[in-house]
Amino acid sequence: MRVLITGGAGFIGSHLAEKLIDEGHEVFIIDNLWTGKLENLKRIQDNERCHLVIDTILNESVMNELIFKVDHIYHLAAAVGVRNIMDNPVETLEINVKGTETVLRLANRFKKKVLIASTSEIYGKHVDHSLKEDDNRVMGTVKKRRWAYACSKTLDEFLALAYFDEKKLPVVVTRLFNTVGPRQTGRYGMVLPNFVQSALLGKPITVFGDGTQSRSFTHVSDVTDALIKLVNKQEAEGDVFNVGNDHEVSIKDLAHKVKEMTRSKSEIEYIPYEKAYGPGFEDMERRCPNIDKIKGLIGFKPKHDLESIIQSVIDYFKS
Ligand code: UDP
Repeated sequence: MRVLITGGAGFIGSHLAEKLIDEGHEVFIIDNLWTGKLENLKRIQDNERCHLVIDTILNESVMNELIFKVDHIYHLAAAVGVRNIMDNPVETLEINVKGTETVLRLANRFKKKVLIASTSEIYGKHVDHSLKEDDNRVMGTVKKRRWAYACSKTLDEFLALAYFDEKKLPVVVTRLFNTVGPRQTGRYGMVLPNFVQSALLGKPITVFGDGTQSRSFTHVSDVTDALIKLVNKQEAEGDVFNVGNDHEVSIKDLAHKVKEMTRSKSEIEYIPYEKAYGPGFEDMERRCPNIDKIKGLIGFKPKHDLESIIQSVIDYFKS
Protein backbone atom coordinates (compact mmCIF):
# COMPACT_ATOMS: atom_id res chain seq x y z
CA MET A 1 0.00 0.00 0.00
CA ARG A 2 1.08 3.61 -0.57
CA VAL A 3 0.62 6.04 2.29
CA LEU A 4 1.26 9.71 2.92
CA ILE A 5 2.30 10.91 6.37
CA THR A 6 2.05 14.66 6.87
CA GLY A 7 4.50 15.64 9.58
CA GLY A 8 6.37 12.40 8.93
CA ALA A 9 9.72 13.75 10.16
CA GLY A 10 8.22 14.58 13.54
CA PHE A 11 8.35 12.52 16.69
CA ILE A 12 5.21 10.42 16.13
CA GLY A 13 5.32 10.62 12.32
CA SER A 14 8.83 9.19 12.08
CA HIS A 15 7.96 6.21 14.29
CA LEU A 16 4.87 5.62 12.18
CA ALA A 17 6.91 5.85 8.96
CA GLU A 18 9.42 3.28 10.24
CA LYS A 19 6.65 0.88 11.19
CA LEU A 20 4.92 1.19 7.81
CA ILE A 21 8.22 0.75 5.93
CA ASP A 22 8.95 -2.34 8.05
CA GLU A 23 5.53 -3.71 7.12
CA GLY A 24 6.46 -3.38 3.43
CA HIS A 25 4.49 -0.26 2.49
CA GLU A 26 5.62 2.63 0.33
CA VAL A 27 5.74 5.76 2.46
CA PHE A 28 5.58 9.38 1.30
CA ILE A 29 6.43 12.00 3.88
CA ILE A 30 5.81 15.73 3.76
CA ASP A 31 7.32 17.85 6.50
CA ASN A 32 8.42 21.49 6.67
CA LEU A 33 10.91 20.65 9.44
CA TRP A 34 9.40 23.27 11.73
CA THR A 35 9.41 20.83 14.63
CA GLY A 36 10.32 17.72 12.64
CA LYS A 37 13.95 16.71 12.07
CA LEU A 38 15.76 14.86 9.26
CA GLU A 39 17.68 13.00 11.93
CA ASN A 40 14.42 11.28 12.95
CA LEU A 41 14.39 9.54 9.54
CA LYS A 42 17.96 8.27 9.74
CA ARG A 43 16.96 4.60 9.79
CA ILE A 44 14.64 4.76 6.76
CA GLN A 45 15.77 7.70 4.62
CA ASP A 46 17.80 5.50 2.24
CA ASN A 47 15.07 2.90 1.87
CA GLU A 48 13.74 2.87 -1.70
CA ARG A 49 10.17 2.81 -0.36
CA CYS A 50 10.68 6.03 1.63
CA HIS A 51 10.07 9.34 -0.18
CA LEU A 52 10.60 12.64 1.58
CA VAL A 53 9.27 16.02 0.47
CA ILE A 54 10.41 19.01 2.49
CA ASP A 55 7.58 21.48 2.12
CA THR A 56 4.54 22.86 3.89
CA ILE A 57 1.20 21.07 3.71
CA LEU A 58 -0.21 24.43 2.62
CA ASN A 59 1.52 23.98 -0.77
CA GLU A 60 -1.50 22.76 -2.71
CA SER A 61 0.18 21.61 -5.93
CA VAL A 62 2.66 19.44 -4.02
CA MET A 63 -0.08 18.07 -1.79
CA ASN A 64 -2.34 17.41 -4.76
CA GLU A 65 0.33 15.26 -6.40
CA LEU A 66 1.13 13.37 -3.22
CA ILE A 67 -2.48 12.68 -2.32
CA PHE A 68 -3.21 11.52 -5.86
CA LYS A 69 -0.43 8.91 -5.54
CA VAL A 70 -1.37 7.31 -2.22
CA ASP A 71 -4.09 5.07 -0.79
CA HIS A 72 -4.22 6.45 2.76
CA ILE A 73 -3.20 9.71 4.45
CA TYR A 74 -2.09 9.97 8.07
CA HIS A 75 -2.46 13.67 8.82
CA LEU A 76 -0.08 14.38 11.68
CA ALA A 77 1.37 17.74 10.65
CA ALA A 78 0.45 20.34 13.25
CA ALA A 79 1.86 22.90 15.59
CA VAL A 80 2.80 20.88 18.66
CA GLY A 81 3.66 21.53 22.26
CA VAL A 82 2.11 23.90 24.78
CA ARG A 83 5.16 26.17 24.75
CA ASN A 84 4.96 26.45 20.96
CA ILE A 85 1.29 27.38 21.20
CA MET A 86 1.99 30.02 23.85
CA ASP A 87 4.89 31.50 21.84
CA ASN A 88 3.50 31.26 18.27
CA PRO A 89 -0.28 31.67 18.42
CA VAL A 90 -0.76 32.84 14.83
CA GLU A 91 1.24 30.02 13.23
CA THR A 92 -0.47 27.49 15.49
CA LEU A 93 -3.93 28.50 14.42
CA GLU A 94 -3.03 28.85 10.75
CA ILE A 95 -1.28 25.54 10.31
CA ASN A 96 -3.85 23.57 12.32
CA VAL A 97 -6.89 25.02 10.63
CA LYS A 98 -5.71 25.74 7.08
CA GLY A 99 -3.50 22.64 6.95
CA THR A 100 -6.30 20.23 7.81
CA GLU A 101 -8.70 22.05 5.52
CA THR A 102 -6.22 21.57 2.63
CA VAL A 103 -5.64 17.90 3.38
CA LEU A 104 -9.36 17.10 3.59
CA ARG A 105 -10.30 19.10 0.48
CA LEU A 106 -7.63 17.42 -1.65
CA ALA A 107 -8.29 13.97 -0.18
CA ASN A 108 -11.92 14.43 -1.11
CA ARG A 109 -10.95 15.22 -4.70
CA PHE A 110 -9.55 11.70 -5.05
CA LYS A 111 -11.64 10.09 -2.27
CA LYS A 112 -8.60 8.98 -0.29
CA LYS A 113 -8.98 7.84 3.29
CA VAL A 114 -7.66 10.25 5.93
CA LEU A 115 -6.73 9.65 9.55
CA ILE A 116 -6.73 12.86 11.56
CA ALA A 117 -4.46 13.10 14.59
CA SER A 118 -6.37 15.20 17.07
CA THR A 119 -5.64 15.64 20.74
CA SER A 120 -6.93 15.06 24.25
CA GLU A 121 -6.58 18.87 24.69
CA ILE A 122 -9.98 19.18 23.10
CA TYR A 123 -11.65 17.87 26.30
CA GLY A 124 -10.44 21.07 27.98
CA LYS A 125 -10.86 21.59 31.71
CA HIS A 126 -12.66 18.34 32.45
CA VAL A 127 -11.96 16.80 35.84
CA ASP A 128 -13.61 13.43 35.17
CA HIS A 129 -11.32 10.49 35.60
CA SER A 130 -12.22 8.76 32.42
CA LEU A 131 -12.81 10.92 29.36
CA LYS A 132 -15.16 9.38 26.81
CA GLU A 133 -15.26 10.33 23.15
CA ASP A 134 -18.79 11.73 23.44
CA ASP A 135 -18.15 13.83 26.55
CA ASN A 136 -18.79 17.56 26.49
CA ARG A 137 -15.79 19.82 26.08
CA VAL A 138 -15.01 22.35 28.81
CA MET A 139 -13.15 25.23 27.25
CA GLY A 140 -11.45 28.18 28.91
CA THR A 141 -11.89 31.79 27.86
CA VAL A 142 -10.49 33.07 24.56
CA LYS A 143 -8.33 35.38 26.66
CA LYS A 144 -6.26 32.36 27.71
CA ARG A 145 -4.10 31.51 24.75
CA ARG A 146 -3.67 27.87 25.60
CA TRP A 147 -7.21 27.04 24.52
CA ALA A 148 -6.56 28.25 20.96
CA TYR A 149 -4.84 24.95 20.25
CA ALA A 150 -7.79 22.90 21.53
CA CYS A 151 -10.22 24.99 19.49
CA SER A 152 -8.16 24.67 16.30
CA LYS A 153 -8.06 20.90 16.70
CA THR A 154 -11.78 20.79 17.49
CA LEU A 155 -12.44 22.56 14.22
CA ASP A 156 -10.29 19.93 12.46
CA GLU A 157 -12.48 17.22 13.97
CA PHE A 158 -15.71 18.97 12.96
CA LEU A 159 -14.42 19.42 9.42
CA ALA A 160 -13.33 15.79 9.09
CA LEU A 161 -16.70 14.51 10.32
CA ALA A 162 -18.48 16.96 8.03
CA TYR A 163 -16.57 15.58 5.04
CA PHE A 164 -17.58 12.09 6.10
CA ASP A 165 -21.27 12.94 6.55
CA GLU A 166 -21.71 15.25 3.60
CA LYS A 167 -19.20 14.04 1.02
CA LYS A 168 -18.79 10.39 2.07
CA LEU A 169 -15.05 10.87 2.48
CA PRO A 170 -13.65 8.03 4.62
CA VAL A 171 -12.10 9.66 7.69
CA VAL A 172 -11.01 8.44 11.12
CA VAL A 173 -10.48 10.90 13.98
CA THR A 174 -8.04 9.95 16.72
CA ARG A 175 -7.45 11.83 19.99
CA LEU A 176 -3.93 11.27 21.24
CA PHE A 177 -3.22 11.46 24.99
CA ASN A 178 0.33 12.58 25.94
CA THR A 179 2.32 10.40 23.58
CA VAL A 180 5.93 10.00 24.71
CA GLY A 181 9.05 8.02 23.84
CA PRO A 182 12.40 8.22 22.10
CA ARG A 183 12.97 11.24 19.80
CA GLN A 184 10.52 13.50 21.58
CA THR A 185 12.35 16.70 22.31
CA GLY A 186 11.90 18.85 25.39
CA ARG A 187 12.26 21.97 23.26
CA TYR A 188 8.51 22.56 22.98
CA GLY A 189 7.85 22.13 26.68
CA MET A 190 6.88 18.46 26.88
CA VAL A 191 7.24 17.24 30.40
CA LEU A 192 8.89 13.81 30.21
CA PRO A 193 11.88 14.62 27.96
CA ASN A 194 12.45 17.76 30.04
CA PHE A 195 12.41 15.86 33.34
CA VAL A 196 14.70 13.12 32.03
CA GLN A 197 17.20 15.52 30.49
CA SER A 198 17.35 17.65 33.64
CA ALA A 199 17.74 14.57 35.83
CA LEU A 200 20.58 13.18 33.70
CA LEU A 201 22.36 16.54 33.69
CA GLY A 202 21.90 17.04 37.44
CA LYS A 203 19.87 20.19 36.78
CA PRO A 204 16.67 21.00 38.76
CA ILE A 205 13.60 19.01 37.68
CA THR A 206 11.05 21.78 37.22
CA VAL A 207 7.47 20.98 38.18
CA PHE A 208 5.03 23.67 37.07
CA GLY A 209 2.27 24.62 39.50
CA ASP A 210 1.94 22.40 42.59
CA GLY A 211 2.42 19.17 40.63
CA THR A 212 -0.97 17.69 41.56
CA GLN A 213 -2.12 17.96 37.95
CA SER A 214 -2.08 14.54 36.30
CA ARG A 215 -1.56 13.03 32.87
CA SER A 216 -1.67 9.54 31.33
CA PHE A 217 1.34 8.76 29.17
CA THR A 218 1.33 6.43 26.18
CA HIS A 219 4.39 5.02 24.46
CA VAL A 220 4.70 6.12 20.85
CA SER A 221 4.85 2.55 19.55
CA ASP A 222 1.49 1.74 21.20
CA VAL A 223 0.08 4.84 19.50
CA THR A 224 1.45 4.04 16.02
CA ASP A 225 0.16 0.43 16.27
CA ALA A 226 -3.29 1.81 17.04
CA LEU A 227 -3.26 4.34 14.20
CA ILE A 228 -2.36 1.67 11.63
CA LYS A 229 -5.07 -0.68 12.90
CA LEU A 230 -7.69 2.08 12.91
CA VAL A 231 -6.94 3.17 9.34
CA ASN A 232 -7.38 -0.39 8.18
CA LYS A 233 -10.67 -0.94 9.98
CA GLN A 234 -13.70 0.04 7.97
CA GLU A 235 -15.91 0.28 11.06
CA ALA A 236 -13.71 3.14 12.33
CA GLU A 237 -14.72 5.43 9.47
CA GLY A 238 -16.67 8.53 10.44
CA ASP A 239 -15.89 7.99 14.11
CA VAL A 240 -13.67 9.37 16.89
CA PHE A 241 -11.31 7.33 19.08
CA ASN A 242 -9.27 8.07 22.17
CA VAL A 243 -5.76 6.65 21.79
CA GLY A 244 -4.04 6.51 25.14
CA ASN A 245 -3.10 4.68 28.27
CA ASP A 246 -5.59 4.81 31.15
CA HIS A 247 -2.93 4.81 33.87
CA GLU A 248 -2.85 8.26 35.47
CA VAL A 249 0.10 9.84 37.28
CA SER A 250 0.53 13.24 38.94
CA ILE A 251 3.33 15.42 37.58
CA LYS A 252 4.84 15.54 41.08
CA ASP A 253 4.98 11.73 41.23
CA LEU A 254 6.38 11.63 37.71
CA ALA A 255 9.22 13.93 38.78
CA HIS A 256 10.05 11.66 41.74
CA LYS A 257 9.88 8.55 39.55
CA VAL A 258 12.27 10.06 36.98
CA LYS A 259 14.65 11.15 39.74
CA GLU A 260 14.60 7.65 41.24
CA MET A 261 15.02 5.79 37.94
CA THR A 262 17.94 7.99 36.81
CA ARG A 263 19.47 7.89 40.32
CA SER A 264 19.78 11.64 39.94
CA LYS A 265 20.81 14.10 42.61
CA SER A 266 18.70 16.84 40.95
CA GLU A 267 16.43 18.95 43.13
CA ILE A 268 12.70 18.94 42.35
CA GLU A 269 11.80 22.60 41.96
CA TYR A 270 8.26 24.02 41.90
CA ILE A 271 7.74 26.91 39.47
CA PRO A 272 4.53 29.00 39.28
CA TYR A 273 2.70 28.68 35.96
CA GLU A 274 3.02 32.42 35.26
CA LYS A 275 6.78 32.13 35.43
CA ALA A 276 6.89 28.97 33.33
CA TYR A 277 4.57 29.97 30.50
CA GLY A 278 3.99 33.70 30.90
CA PRO A 279 0.60 35.34 31.31
CA GLY A 280 -2.53 33.82 29.81
CA PHE A 281 -1.86 30.26 30.82
CA GLU A 282 -4.27 27.84 32.39
CA ASP A 283 -3.47 24.17 32.88
CA MET A 284 -5.60 21.06 32.61
CA GLU A 285 -5.95 19.43 36.03
CA ARG A 286 -6.21 15.90 34.74
CA ARG A 287 -6.46 14.09 31.47
CA CYS A 288 -7.11 10.37 31.45
CA PRO A 289 -8.81 8.53 28.59
CA ASN A 290 -11.58 6.01 28.62
CA ILE A 291 -10.32 3.47 26.08
CA ASP A 292 -13.29 1.09 25.96
CA LYS A 293 -14.19 2.12 22.42
CA ILE A 294 -10.79 1.46 20.83
CA LYS A 295 -10.43 -1.72 22.89
CA GLY A 296 -13.78 -2.91 21.59
CA LEU A 297 -12.98 -2.21 17.95
CA ILE A 298 -9.31 -3.19 17.51
CA GLY A 299 -8.48 -4.89 20.84
CA PHE A 300 -6.17 -1.98 21.76
CA LYS A 301 -4.12 -2.62 24.88
CA PRO A 302 -1.03 -0.50 25.58
CA LYS A 303 2.01 -2.76 25.92
CA HIS A 304 4.18 -0.24 27.79
CA ASP A 305 3.65 0.66 31.44
CA LEU A 306 4.91 3.92 32.95
CA GLU A 307 8.26 2.44 34.06
CA SER A 308 9.11 1.05 30.65
CA ILE A 309 8.03 4.32 29.03
CA ILE A 310 10.31 6.36 31.31
CA GLN A 311 13.13 3.84 30.80
CA SER A 312 12.87 4.15 27.00
CA VAL A 313 13.24 7.93 27.29
CA ILE A 314 16.21 7.59 29.68
CA ASP A 315 17.91 5.13 27.28
CA TYR A 316 17.31 7.52 24.38
CA PHE A 317 18.88 10.52 26.09
CA LYS A 318 21.77 8.44 27.41
CA SER A 319 22.58 7.21 23.92
N1 UDP B 1 5.18 20.42 33.04
C1 UDP B 1 6.05 20.56 34.11
N2 UDP B 1 7.36 20.79 33.87
C2 UDP B 1 7.87 20.88 32.60
C3 UDP B 1 6.99 20.72 31.50
C4 UDP B 1 5.66 20.51 31.76
O1 UDP B 1 5.63 20.48 35.27
O2 UDP B 1 9.10 21.07 32.45
C5 UDP B 1 3.76 20.14 33.30
C6 UDP B 1 2.76 20.98 32.52
O3 UDP B 1 2.50 22.20 33.19
C7 UDP B 1 1.56 20.05 32.47
C8 UDP B 1 2.18 18.65 32.39
O4 UDP B 1 3.52 18.80 32.87
O5 UDP B 1 0.80 20.13 33.64
C9 UDP B 1 2.22 18.07 30.99
O6 UDP B 1 2.81 19.04 30.12
P1 UDP B 1 3.10 18.77 28.60
O7 UDP B 1 3.49 20.08 28.00
O8 UDP B 1 4.05 17.64 28.46
O9 UDP B 1 1.73 18.28 27.99
P2 UDP B 1 0.22 18.82 28.09
O10 UDP B 1 0.16 19.99 28.99
O11 UDP B 1 -0.14 19.13 26.70
O12 UDP B 1 -0.52 17.68 28.66
